[in-house]
Amino acid sequence: MSLKVYNTATRSLEDFVPLRDGAVGVYACGPTIYNHAHIGNFRTFLFFDLVHRHLEWSGYDVRFVMNLTDVDDKVIEAAHAAGTSIQKHTGPFGETFLSDCQMLGVRTVDSYPRATEFIDRMVDFISRLIEKGHAYPADDGAVYFSIASFPGYGKLKGIDISTLIEGARVEHDEYEKEDARDFVLWKAATEADEAVGAAWDSPWGRGRPGWHLECSVMSTTELGDTLDMHLGGEDLVFPHHENEIAQSEGATGHPFVRYWMHVKHLFVEGRKMSKSLGNFIRVRELLEEGYDPAAIRHLLISSHYRGDLNFTRDGLKASAVAVQRLLDFEARLAELATDDSAEASALPDLSASVLVAFRTAMDDDFNSAHALGTIFGFVTRVNSELDERGNVTAADRDAALDALRSMDEVLGLLEVAHASRTVDDDLVSWVERMIEERAAARASKDFARADQIREDLAAKSIVLEDGAEGTRWKMIS
Ligand code: AMP
Ligand code: ZN
Repeated sequence: MSLKVYNTATRSLEDFVPLRDGAVGVYACGPTIYNHAHIGNFRTFLFFDLVHRHLEWSGYDVRFVMNLTDVDDKVIEAAHAAGTSIQKHTGPFGETFLSDCQMLGVRTVDSYPRATEFIDRMVDFISRLIEKGHAYPADDGAVYFSIASFPGYGKLKGIDISTLIEGARVEHDEYEKEDARDFVLWKAATEADEAVGAAWDSPWGRGRPGWHLECSVMSTTELGDTLDMHLGGEDLVFPHHENEIAQSEGATGHPFVRYWMHVKHLFVEGRKMSKSLGNFIRVRELLEEGYDPAAIRHLLISSHYRGDLNFTRDGLKASAVAVQRLLDFEARLAELATDDSAEASALPDLSASVLVAFRTAMDDDFNSAHALGTIFGFVTRVNSELDERGNVTAADRDAALDALRSMDEVLGLLEVAHASRTVDDDLVSWVERMIEERAAARASKDFARADQIREDLAAKSIVLEDGAEGTRWKMIS
């Protein structure tokens, strides 16, 4: 069986055939780095990661690009409120985003373009659209895309362009949701834009790019005129991706994207996530509260990306149990005393068939829910085979271990669990070293050094308790 993907553009499951045999170019709409990413964003980013990993696991030569939006309405507003420049405001959020990705096992991608690094190309791109009659500068210093000039407009969303008001404009990308009129490619700079460093020179005066344009320019610059896959959350279908198609195909004259894929929004405790409902959760908070990153990863990939997923703390606890089951299973296999004179077991057959079932699930439009089901079925069967037999040969044991680890190259659960536990072990040995050093400092009456060590530990939320039987320590949240 080969990979099938659900293409938003055709509303059907299609065989995946990349433009160039064996190679895939993917563009994913990444975060707007005006604040920390929330767990909904990470449902989407973890889906990106599953696509990335599964394509690589399947032998494709993948070029994966995920942009970081560092200039748009939200960024400007946030920088303004913080009294700083967009660059200074977005820098740390970009860093934290990448470190959250690393904690959750999101593989590093080939390129993370930031919109502000592409301004010259954006200006060229708009000039091309004007030359081709798809765009026009207006008196207000802005440049608009003329949707009447692009007959295919509305296809991705499935709306009829003839019902739209010709020549009517929408200026602010934040407020144009569900609106379909001439949209802005370049906005004239306001005082606020200038104040936060979000204004550049252009043939149309000082200004800044529209959000939709940013993705068209970054994606085609990085991957060429036609992308194999373009990914994002479901909220981006319209107008963001619809507008990207119009801009890109208008400018290049080539089909823009072969397969569009969109991730359904995450719910939290049964409702849409929002600050006013008090169910708004950032990944950072969960990590800081000490939740296992592997459990977060498990929960966010436990449902098919087009299906519903409801995040709850109880769900997170159940995911932690599931991850522990995988870890225990791996440890059982790794530590198994093997006996090469043992009779042949069912392990090689179970291993071969789980790999086929796993591939079939992932090839079926990245069905991670089924893929997880096949792995846990395998764990149950292999465990009972081991219970029954007691002994297996090293080759049989290795077949099972290799299958497990191979599937984990896609799911990344053991990988993340091991990485976070290594960090924990490192921390424990560091704390123990510090406690010894403090005891030595106190013994030699170097109280300044002893206090310094206590403070260093406190900075990492570690408190010491001196008692009769020595010093104990604990983490406080
Ligand atoms: P943003 O940082 O708002 O630009 O969003 C980054 C990515 O996360 C986009 O692909 C969004 O579609 C996606 N996204 C936003 N909210 C959610 C949510 N609740 N569930 C899943 N994905 C989301
Ligand atoms: Zn985008």
